[in-house]
Amino acid sequence: MPELRKDPIIGRWVIISTERAKRPNDFKVLHPEEEEGVCPFCEGHEKDTLPEVFSIRKKGSKKNASGWDVRVVPSISQKLSVNGVVDRRGVGMYDVMDPVGAHEVIIESPKHYADIYELPRPQIELVIKASVNRIIELGKNVDLKYCLLFKNHGLRAGGSKTSKHIRSQIIATPVTPTRVKEELRGSRFYYKFKDRCIFCDLSRQELEEKKRVIMETRHMLAIAPYASRFPFEIWILPKKHCSDFVDIRKEEIKDLALVFKTVLRKLSTALNDPPYNYMLHTAPFRHAERPGYWNTIKEDYHWHIEITPRITEVAGFEWGSGFYINPMPPEDAAKYLREI
Ligand SMILES: [Zn+2]
Ligand SMILES: [Zn+2]
Ligand SMILES: [Zn+2]
Repeated sequence: MPELRKDPIIGRWVIISTERAKRPNDFKVLHPEEEEGVCPFCEGHEKDTLPEVFSIRKKGSKKNASGWDVRVVPSISQKLSVNGVVDRRGVGMYDVMDPVGAHEVIIESPKHYADIYELPRPQIELVIKASVNRIIELGKNVDLKYCLLFKNHGLRAGGSKTSKHIRSQIIATPVTPTRVKEELRGSRFYYKFKDRCIFCDLSRQELEEKKRVIMETRHMLAIAPYASRFPFEIWILPKKHCSDFVDIRKEEIKDLALVFKTVLRKLSTALNDPPYNYMLHTAPFRHAERPGYWNTIKEDYHWHIEITPRITEVAGFEWGSGFYINPMPPEDAAKYLREI
């Protein structure tokens, strides 16, 4: 029998169709021959991108020249600009504002790798440090409310045709994204009710039950969420409660790098390099005191990373209802990923 499962945080329903449960092999991705152009992100091609806004580089190397480990540049397709002021106004009943924000690309290696698990662990740690640095920096702009860190891997996940060079992106916006708002509301509601963080409760239960745990280290936990929307969906959370990603501790960075490397390698092996997205969900910037709104955010929200493989189609029913249909029970996905 299929099951209707409810996501405990935002209340979204998912149909887990255990009835026609597929085997992991059924999800393996086929790759047509893809040709890549000249890569603007490789070391030595610094002039092919916009001037960098941040980099971690070797001593003595110059800005916008080779000698870097991680480089952050504005996106050439940016839709938002840091120059400007938020001018929110009404057009009749509609709301409009100027596109204030930032869109940056984090180039995660000077060498031409395509997936994060191919990087040595210390390099992934540098990538995490660069991300933290950018979020802190962008957060100083009082016009910005949120900073979404995400990755598009593979064409179907929004990756580019010209180059597979490993990179993630940051988009900072003057508003909090709806998906995050739903989580913030759900977490606050739960906290008000139980005086506990919903993500901490969820982690505790998953660690007890074990069946949806993919990997655990001293500081990090990777699970297949109970109401997974997609086959092989993965969430990564710090075990110690923390609302803001930028407060990540040294030992957590080490563990997160290891979990990233391991879990994404498992995913790639299991499904033959599937397209996927991942995004960081962290608390919004809190510039102004908002009475009654941010009061408990440090206690009630818990940062995490969601990895969503793009191997099934999202169709009319999903678009129209907000339900998802997932033909792969997360328990089976977790078991498969654990053992691979
Ligand atoms: Zn490259
Ligand atoms: Zn928590
Ligand atoms: Zn989330």
